[in-house]
Amino acid sequence: MKTTTVLLFAGLLVAGCSGPAQTPASGPAQNPAGDAAQKPAGDVARKPASDVALGPATSVQRTPMAALPDIDIDAVLAHIKMLSSDRFEGRGPGTRGEELTVNYLIDQFKKIGAKPGNTDGTYIEKVPLVGITPTPAPLVLRKGGAEQRLAWKDDVVAWTKRMADGASLDSSELVFVGYGVVAPEYSWDDYKGLDVKGKTLVMLVNDPPVADPANAAELDPKMFGGKAMTYYGRWTYKYEIAAEKGAAGALIIHETGPAGYPFDVVQSSWTSEQFELVTPGKSMGRVSIEGWISLDQGQRLLKMAGRDFGTLKKQAATREFRPVPLGVTASMTIRNKLRTIDSKNVVAKVEGSHPTLKNEYVVYTAHWDHLGIGPAVNGDTIYNGAEDNASGTGGMLEIAHAFAKLPAPPKRSILFLAVTAEEQGLLGSEYYTVAPIYPLAKTAANINLDGLNVHGRTRDLTLIGYGASDLDDYVRDAAGEQGRTIRPDAEPEKGHYYRSDHFNFAKQGVPALDPDDGVDFIGRPADFGRRVRDDYTQHDYHKPSDVVKPDWDLSGAREDLKVLFAVGYRVAEADTLPGWKPGNEFKARRDAQLKAASGH
Ligand SMILES: [Zn+2]
Repeated sequence: MKTTTVLLFAGLLVAGCSGPAQTPASGPAQNPAGDAAQKPAGDVARKPASDVALGPATSVQRTPMAALPDIDIDAVLAHIKMLSSDRFEGRGPGTRGEELTVNYLIDQFKKIGAKPGNTDGTYIEKVPLVGITPTPAPLVLRKGGAEQRLAWKDDVVAWTKRMADGASLDSSELVFVGYGVVAPEYSWDDYKGLDVKGKTLVMLVNDPPVADPANAAELDPKMFGGKAMTYYGRWTYKYEIAAEKGAAGALIIHETGPAGYPFDVVQSSWTSEQFELVTPGKSMGRVSIEGWISLDQGQRLLKMAGRDFGTLKKQAATREFRPVPLGVTASMTIRNKLRTIDSKNVVAKVEGSHPTLKNEYVVYTAHWDHLGIGPAVNGDTIYNGAEDNASGTGGMLEIAHAFAKLPAPPKRSILFLAVTAEEQGLLGSEYYTVAPIYPLAKTAANINLDGLNVHGRTRDLTLIGYGASDLDDYVRDAAGEQGRTIRPDAEPEKGHYYRSDHFNFAKQGVPALDPDDGVDFIGRPADFGRRVRDDYTQHDYHKPSDVVKPDWDLSGAREDLKVLFAVGYRVAEADTLPGWKPGNEFKARRDAQLKAASGH
């Protein structure tokens, strides 16, 4: 789940429910890969829903929410208590805690009446993982007779995600490619046709900050989401596009502001074991070496090439930018230590009632894993993960139960996917979306549950990535039936949308919903939402103290779960599939996917 602090211990470093936050932070408190990002706080002025253009009321002939089965919130709490009990040992992938968790989920799905979700007749999708530990090595830059050595960790943090003993850059030519972005919807291409095969790309972090033509002091809201971060800003994107271009290496110049965290977070997150999916191609399609260099060293590197960092950075914020071959070569050899573990997604379904539409799926996700057993905090070594994410998992089980209780199932089928290794970098959901059990073109939507509200009823409900897809219209309508409003993420610049399991669906084109707690609590002071969130972030997030507390109140979670149940039900009943809103970065992918599936 998303919040600011993260506990970094061996094997879990790049883990988590979210990604790098975008505000400068003062310590190694954030987690660039997974979970880390502050949830919106209660003190931010509520934005009316009308700020962002949503669609008209959803057209589906709808059953009023009041006519749908209720969510059994006592059962949700019982699931949370069980999954977060010490007996489950913090639900670490590949541990005894995983075995207990997987068995519990299968038992519950059977009891509820949800069928095996895999086509092989089981509730299991196997997820093979590999742990990769890089061995320190310097990066050597050369130009003519001049040489600069960048020290491991101090100056450069690099690794190879290839499942191999090691990888090298051998006098690979460096090319500065600005932000490294290819974004057709913004008519933006930082490569301009330059062949970068075998080269090592030097890139800037975050989106190109394009000035607003009407006001140079502001960012253009029509370009890369304005202040909000788009996927093009994420470090994951930078390495992916480099691989797509056939580059040998990719090095991001770190800057604290645009990255959202200081270089010491990079140092603590990527210098020990990282988990990845075991892929048939052993990840050999990735660039040989990926990494970050410090700002200081990035500036020196460009100076060595006779260039100025500030000038290049300015050029890179324009559409006219052209890549700059630097006349400098890079050499580096990284050795790996590898180990593999087998983990599991648990998958169940409620089959649809329509003869053909039942082959289409609404997919709910919730990550079952947490951090397992780790360093003691106040004498406690079990990271129970009650909010993160026993709560979402328990909520999903009871949404499944509500579907099973319907007198007639909806037209489309509903899939319940409890995914593993979210804390390791969204790996279980990534596995499902790259090797889907049911075609993605037949996947109507993804609805993700990561952390429930445990503090009582709210007048609102937050949608991360507000305005991204038609699913937001469904949420608005359902919440409206409860007399509640929806609100955008208070911190869109942090890119929360890219940091939990729904993102893997979005990335593959499937409209995906990332709901978050409301902040306007009924009968509470205005700052209550912020206070409980800050308190959790500071004291319990990714700590052994994330346990069920005596003051928990799930009445707000019950309302949220009812909304998410109604949304899934109505999408499963609708005449048309929900789509991405125009201008969304995932829309082109979805359009192509649906077109390919329809054979036109
Ligand atoms: Zn987490």
